[in-house]
Amino acid sequence: MMECGLRKCSLSGEYINYYGRISGLVLRAGSAADCKCPIYRMAWAYRYMQRENRRRKSRHTLITIILLELILAVGGLSYLVLKNKQPGEDPFLTEDTVIEYFTEAPETEVEFFVPKPDISEQLLSINEWSRPGKKIRSLDYIVIHYLGNPKTTAQENHDYFESLKELQNVSMSANYVIGLEGEIIHCVPDDEVAYASNRANSYSISIENCHPDDTGRFTQATYDSLVKLAAYLSEQYGLGRDQIIRHYDVTEKDCPKYFVEHEDAWERFRDQVMAYREECRSEVMEEIELERSRETEFTQLEEFLAENGVEENADDIGAEG
Ligand SMILES: [Zn+2]
Repeated sequence: MMECGLRKCSLSGEYINYYGRISGLVLRAGSAADCKCPIYRMAWAYRYMQRENRRRKSRHTLITIILLELILAVGGLSYLVLKNKQPGEDPFLTEDTVIEYFTEAPETEVEFFVPKPDISEQLLSINEWSRPGKKIRSLDYIVIHYLGNPKTTAQENHDYFESLKELQNVSMSANYVIGLEGEIIHCVPDDEVAYASNRANSYSISIENCHPDDTGRFTQATYDSLVKLAAYLSEQYGLGRDQIIRHYDVTEKDCPKYFVEHEDAWERFRDQVMAYREECRSEVMEEIELERSRETEFTQLEEFLAENGVEENADDIGAEG
């Protein structure tokens, strides 16, 4: 039907060159349906196709731009979310303990409830005998010890750990030492290895405790500080009751002696740590509740005053009178 050559358009009356390609044709009449000239109809179809192509192209461009904008928006949002991550997402926390702990936490902006006990910061100098300066690989346990050296004080034991860099005869230390009067000394940072719990050194915090005699039983002051420190640390690092363990549970060494010989006392101690955490939480929650009810009362009072046409500004009231 299509041949090369000169054709006359029945509608426009124009002669149109057709050389096997349709581009360059000039249309002068209305719709192709009215035109019997096949070239005209072809040209009309061609134009229609061109217009459709342009539309399709611009549609593609628009979709591409929208997609790019979406990708940028999602990327930007992810960046903001990652940037504002809370300290609750501590790399030390195992997934299980985080879930266990945070599901029981109430809906409040308060993250920690246990107050930090009085701690004397006396970090040892870095040395291979008591503070190697090596980071622990995870923080999964708090390991409880007794010193096995009756009547010595927390300060004496701290100073002994420090002196090992000169003595160089034994590797020994602990992250914390609690004294006979309940004083707490921080010797090695929580995220660094201390030499106390053998193979558990690289994934735990160790707490050494002073004791007055060979039974290894702690004084009430030492015991109370230990409960507070264990509660504080376990909350800070999202550890549960079963992640507070004895040196005995790592190596079966008779340490802490009293708690190894008195299993019931040991279980009671862990119960008390968790009870203290709960107590601290309740106290904070009570304060929050009190503050909320005060706010509600205040709002109700404001509404009452507004309903009864009492102006907030005392000067206005005076002026009216
Ligand atoms: Zn021990």
